[in-house]
Amino acid sequence: MMGLPVWNLDQLYRLGSPELAAALEDLKDKTLKFTAWRERLETGPPPPAAFRQLVTELADLNHLAHRLSGFASLAFAQDTQDQKAQSFMARMNEEMADLGNDLLFFEIWWKELDEAQAAPLAADLPDFGYWLKRTRAFRPHTLPEAEEKIVNLKNTTGGDALVALYDSLTNRYRFRPPGGETEVGRDELMVLVRDADPEIRAGAYRELYRVYGADGPILGQMYQTSVRDWRVENIRLRRYASPIEARHKANDLPEAAVAALLKTIRERAGLFGDFFRLKAGMLGLKKFRRYDLYAPLAEDPRVVDFKTGLGQVLAAFEDFSPRLKNLAAKVAGAGRFHARPGPGKQGGAFCYSMLPGDTPWVLMTYNGRRQDLFTLAHELGHAVHAQLAGHHNIFHFHATLPLAETASTFAEMLLVERLRRQASSELEKARLLFHLLEDAYATIGRQAYFALFEIKAHELTEKGATVDELAEAYMENLGEQFGGAVEVGPEFRWEWVSIPHFFHTPFYVYAYSFGQLLVYSLWRRYEEEGAAFAPRLVELLSRGGSEAPEKILADSGLGPLDEKFWQSGFEVIEGFLAELKSCTTGLR
Ligand SMILES: [Zn+2]
Repeated sequence: MMGLPVWNLDQLYRLGSPELAAALEDLKDKTLKFTAWRERLETGPPPPAAFRQLVTELADLNHLAHRLSGFASLAFAQDTQDQKAQSFMARMNEEMADLGNDLLFFEIWWKELDEAQAAPLAADLPDFGYWLKRTRAFRPHTLPEAEEKIVNLKNTTGGDALVALYDSLTNRYRFRPPGGETEVGRDELMVLVRDADPEIRAGAYRELYRVYGADGPILGQMYQTSVRDWRVENIRLRRYASPIEARHKANDLPEAAVAALLKTIRERAGLFGDFFRLKAGMLGLKKFRRYDLYAPLAEDPRVVDFKTGLGQVLAAFEDFSPRLKNLAAKVAGAGRFHARPGPGKQGGAFCYSMLPGDTPWVLMTYNGRRQDLFTLAHELGHAVHAQLAGHHNIFHFHATLPLAETASTFAEMLLVERLRRQASSELEKARLLFHLLEDAYATIGRQAYFALFEIKAHELTEKGATVDELAEAYMENLGEQFGGAVEVGPEFRWEWVSIPHFFHTPFYVYAYSFGQLLVYSLWRRYEEEGAAFAPRLVELLSRGGSEAPEKILADSGLGPLDEKFWQSGFEVIEGFLAELKSCTTGLR
């Protein structure tokens, strides 16, 4: 495809240039200078003016570090086979690990400082207030330094080693695809769950869980050990009230907001069941099986050239707010956008919001399919978010996890809305709604039920449940989730041992449901308020990560995160489903 843009990394550095070497030297000098604070802090808290100086130096240092490590990632992403890029990336990884260790003393000191001494210092630096407060928020759950060191040391051969073993074991799994002769890896096998042939879809799942199931008892035992390790550390030692509370703290979300989210999704799970029934009808299936969840509809064969595609995405932004459109357009025009395919180019897509006040970098591979338009909208949404928050310092600039996907997902909604209006046939409209609802299920329904299973698994393990009992609990979880709309094969009892998130980052998955349903709830407000809503969203986005998510929403007039809020997100899904029903009636 002609005319695809490529970014210009020379705007940052050139690999092997004297400027790059000088910047690395500068980073070393700045680090050395900063570590001199260590001794000064040991003699007691500095006066406010000196503390301001310290924080400014630290922010500067972070700025430069982000620029250098960001350049390394971008150079590597554009050509992962480039040996110079590879070696610079490896070097920066080491430098960043060293830097982290060198700077750690400040965080420890700040966290341990008495409240009476910390308060006046923080009050003098309102611009850095949230970051300073966040760092200290973990104080009640921090152990004395010697104990923290023991926990760290023992983790490397304990909990972390267990997760590494899980990875080593499962990464070696090979699968025989249905009808195939040669064995393949998991990713390759999973492509087949989207196959048009129902037998191939079923065969792929059966093979997946045949292999995981063969090791099911031992993987389950590993999971239970990691659950116990989580409990020992977070409840016994760090005094969190529940296993999930440690995750809420990291996300800076109140327990009640997440509880309301999960309760609402549970109550409305039937809506996804209705969607699956509709899908069964569209596919002409009498029985809808779990194997058919990702069965494809006839794809749209059209290819949209880049100029037209970008034009459509920008117009979708403009429908909402010309300011958003201008910020999105800036990325494409600033030599910061890489859309051309290349042999060593990294797969997937990302928006790298490297520095406050600087135009973000976006990478994707544009092939002109419908999915590419959504990726384009998504990544440009991230880029808009970062630019709106560009006036914050480096510690407040990036949105925190629960709000990180707000602009990107909202941008996709804007694109759906525009394409739906322009759709020339019922089939085209159905395809869009279908894409949307499938995404809503995978992100909201599925991930929330994963989190519900984790909560249950932690409870059961605490009570001494066996691996088989956890497998039973998982089947009950699926039963509730699908509510009779989907027939689940017995081998799915081993699905939970195949989810790496459960082992790597307990309770992480609810953030996906949170982010996506949040956007649907915001969309409902947009439907109700029309143009008056745009400034609220702009306000929300421009806060970046400078406050707790719930506070940012409240300040923008968009909270509170209660059941009513989450229900309003489901009203949007309900509307889409009704529309899909009406436009498929004629198609069947
Ligand atoms: Zn994203």
